[in-house]
Amino acid sequence: MKVIDHFKKATSTLFSIEILPPLKGKGIQSIFDGIDPLMDFKPSFIDVTYHREEFVYRRREGGYLEKVSIRKRPGTVGICAALVNRYKLDAVPHIICGGFSREETENALIDLHFLGIDNVLLLRGDSIKTEPEFTPHPDGHSYAIDLVRQVVNMNNGKYIDEELQDVAPTDFCIGVAGYPEKHFEAPNRNIDLKYLRHKIDAGADYIVTQMFFDNQMFFDFVQQCRDMGIPVPIVPGLKPIATKRQATLLPSIFHIDIPEDLFNAIDRCETDAQVKEVGIEWAIEQSKGLIEFGAPCLHYYTMGKSEATRRIASAVF
Ligand code: FAD
Repeated sequence: MKVIDHFKKATSTLFSIEILPPLKGKGIQSIFDGIDPLMDFKPSFIDVTYHREEFVYRRREGGYLEKVSIRKRPGTVGICAALVNRYKLDAVPHIICGGFSREETENALIDLHFLGIDNVLLLRGDSIKTEPEFTPHPDGHSYAIDLVRQVVNMNNGKYIDEELQDVAPTDFCIGVAGYPEKHFEAPNRNIDLKYLRHKIDAGADYIVTQMFFDNQMFFDFVQQCRDMGIPVPIVPGLKPIATKRQATLLPSIFHIDIPEDLFNAIDRCETDAQVKEVGIEWAIEQSKGLIEFGAPCLHYYTMGKSEATRRIASAVF
């Protein structure tokens, strides 16, 4: 079923999770181990992130360094198929612009269509560590909106090869990303929201947000989206903090703020076990506030670990 249809049918706030593929060489059991304990809460859908290639230098015989392209977490499409098969629920693969030509993207979408997976979350992706800024593939897309247009074209039976006749249209439900605290590259919030609206105008069905720790950021973001004429469901993304290091790491990676009260509570902790308790309590309070606000779904970034999300879900669903 399409994510958007889950929202239409829902009579209360839904529960969903996001996982990342295991590191190359690890088995899929680790994925199932992270999901099984959450199945009691009947996730409506599970997102699977996509990780683009990275370049590393390997020392070769003779001492010279060879630049090698590696993909550390492959398997997004295969994992989605495995989740659908095992849990009989909807999987949402993330599809990114970075590192892909338009044709490679089209082929990945054809694979998904054949597998009966009719949901995608479309993203630009970040720059790789060796690039100062995001650089698209020479035959690829620069922004998520270009990916939205490609998928909408396929939904209308228009593939890249315009000479194809009698093509089978796809039928993807399209999610896109939104940023309650603004995307870090956007010059200001209004311009960021204008580009977000363009993604919706181009055919995206719903928005999932970057993590945030202050619900007021989300409430304001939803209001600003509505003021900008963005009518689609907006799903808050939530991450329980689990370690002291994350209090400084998450802001630097995701360009988000940690509220002072949360930071002080973490700072007072002597162990990561105590931090985890603080993170769970904070996420429970956030979740309750978001349900009261009427969020269509709470989307938890589990990072493959179930315990914190299980405790939060037990307290609020
Ligand atoms: P875009 O919507 O393309 O926006 C990128 C920037 O460009 C913004 O600053 C925007 O304001 C600006 N912009 C947009 N359109 C235009 C235009 N036409 N002209 C000029 N500027 C423009 N990354 C991964 O690699 N894999 C994942 O699986 C993944 N999953 C994610 C899931 C969620 C819910 C979120 C919130 C993020 C995820 N990301 C993932 C990270 C994401 O790829 C990065 O945040 C990336 O920097 C931006 O992606 P986007 O789709 O929001 O980009």
